[in-house]
Amino acid sequence: MYNAQEVAAAGECLRTARKVSIVSHQRPDGDAVGSALGLALALKAAGKQVVVALADGVPTTFRHLAGADEVVSQGDPSADCRVFVDCGDVGRGGSAWQADWPVDVNIDHHKTNTRFAAVNIVAPHAVATAAMLAELLPAWGFPLPVEAASALLTGILTDTIGFRTSNVTADALRLAADLVDRGAPLSELYFKALVERSFEALRYWGQGLSRIQREGGLVWTSLTLEDRRISGYHSNDDADLVGYLVSVRDAAIGVIFVEQPDGTVKVSWRARSGWDVSDLAVRFGGGGHVPAAGATVPGSLDDVQRKVLAATRALLNA
Ligand code: 5GP
Ligand code: MN
Repeated sequence: MYNAQEVAAAGECLRTARKVSIVSHQRPDGDAVGSALGLALALKAAGKQVVVALADGVPTTFRHLAGADEVVSQGDPSADCRVFVDCGDVGRGGSAWQADWPVDVNIDHHKTNTRFAAVNIVAPHAVATAAMLAELLPAWGFPLPVEAASALLTGILTDTIGFRTSNVTADALRLAADLVDRGAPLSELYFKALVERSFEALRYWGQGLSRIQREGGLVWTSLTLEDRRISGYHSNDDADLVGYLVSVRDAAIGVIFVEQPDGTVKVSWRARSGWDVSDLAVRFGGGGHVPAAGATVPGSLDDVQRKVLAATRALLNA
């Protein structure tokens, strides 16, 4: 499952470090925030000095997690152990980490991981990076305080969409159950991470849903800067709407196009079982998992939509 040598080397780096710098990806999701905070809280409980850096900060959805208030926007390249969690490549750190700064430990579950660190623990079978840490931290001798368990459970909950993805195994459920045993409040964390939304986010969904389109097994829509202005939604993401596109009966792949202020378009794919969208995302300069992947593509909304839909159709028709 894991490479024992890499696991030992990562444990050594963390155990001997006085100061640890943790980075996760820009536009962080629950696994980015949960795995970064879970690792940080476990290390802090062991007396380490820890800095967690996220280029875009902690989204409102995850601000209830302990340590969220101390997250900074830049990592510390002079730390004794420099760790990346939930990042497929070093560029995913965005402005939190310069691409030429060395990384000691890379802990991730993306199939497309480029193994950019000195020590790489990459487990594509893991449901979340947080699930890897729920297993690795106790094995390294770091006990999990309840706050760390809560952060890690949040990462598992969001990456599995509440244990709904097809990669959820009995082992993954046992890891989650272990976190609940350590005091993580499952229903409260589930509600915060996956159910509760802002009024503005629902209005934003309304804009996107009003233009939803279908062609065979392909379902797509877009979200524009104007949609965000009209709805009062202030993040440059899709507010998780893409997951609902692929819930359409007989859909195979859902795609959402989110217009960005810098002349690019954030594309997200979601696929039902039997389809792999990760290679498609890599082709457009992004990455991800078999059933969920994304890329940021330069160009106008119309152009990017045309190119990406053509490539996605080709995949469906292959
Ligand atoms: P989303 O489309 O929801 O942003 O992301 C779906 C999955 O694809 C996540 O696991 C995310 O980390 C990955 N992903 C999204 N955008 C990119 C990207 O630009 N590069 C890489 N390497 N992975 C991405
Ligand atoms: Mn993840």
